[in-house]
Amino acid sequence: NHLKKYFPIKGGVFKRTVGHVKAVDDISFKVKETETLSLVGESGCGKSTTGRTIMRLYEATDGEVILNGENIMELPKNKFRSLRRNIQMIFQDPFSSLNPRMKVRDLLLEPIMTHKLAGRKEALRMVEEMIETVGLSKEQLNRYPHEFSGGQRQRISIARALILKPKVVILDESVSALDVSIQSQILNLLIKLQKEFDLTYIFISHDLNVVKHLSDRVGVMYLGQMMELAETDVLYENPMHPYTQALLSAIPSLDVDEKKERIILQGDVPDPSDPPSGCPFRLRCPMAFDHCAKEKPSFLEKEEGHWVACHLFDERFEHQREKQQQPE
Ligand code: SF4
Ligand code: MG
Repeated sequence: NHLKKYFPIKGGVFKRTVGHVKAVDDISFKVKETETLSLVGESGCGKSTTGRTIMRLYEATDGEVILNGENIMELPKNKFRSLRRNIQMIFQDPFSSLNPRMKVRDLLLEPIMTHKLAGRKEALRMVEEMIETVGLSKEQLNRYPHEFSGGQRQRISIARALILKPKVVILDESVSALDVSIQSQILNLLIKLQKEFDLTYIFISHDLNVVKHLSDRVGVMYLGQMMELAETDVLYENPMHPYTQALLSAIPSLDVDEKKERIILQGDVPDPSDPPSGCPFRLRCPMAFDHCAKEKPSFLEKEEGHWVACHLFDERFEHQREKQQQPE
């Protein structure tokens, strides 16, 4: 709820704060129990920072994160730690998130022991059960992370996160580093596990094909702000925001007959320490008009469950949209 994460920029000889990178700049969304909500956008748009701020790996600059009616941003650190096991995060690179000097058995035992979830005997039983749940075998518990392939290592990370029986799992580019065939195996595993354990996923990805396959709803982020949010089918079939339209137009289509006009975006994502006035997307937006520089568009629910932040969908400027849609 109105989540913000600003990073200070230090400068000069005295290392004073000279500005801020607004990595997450006032975003609000709800995630329903057992659904998959994806956050998409180009790199640097604030998806990962959103995930890490929800996990309190970063302290939020402002805003709330409410889990079961409780604002977890306000909890003192020691109280949050016990609640923490309800929210787990799985990262892109299992090479760096798994301690190379620990056997898989110990990697899986560690979180149970840290959270005092069970005694050692029961913990070992949980570990053996979980390793099979993610498609590996008990014999592999004696091995070290480097003895596994990338896909297997990601299975270990998943086991390590799920062994704490979390409610919410934040997946940050969790399949992005894998080959396409391995990717689909891991995605299918994630879908299976979600059903089995009633998990709620926040799925962070830049890959719109993967997202389409997996999500109930999708939020599109740009420069730390939410541009559009809708059910997956609605978003892919009827994208409202010019940024979403451009992202979707860039997905290679398997259907050769499908005529799709690719919208090429000019330039790069602007420097988040110096964002443009008004609409954050305006410097690259093919539909920008004069008012876009003057005011930041509000995030409006245009149709039930379909939210968009663009002046073209503001009643005051709907004539602009009609003008834009006319053929030249
Ligand atoms: Fe483009 Fe203006 Fe809409 Fe921003 S508000 S997306 S610049 S048309
Ligand atoms: Mg990222």
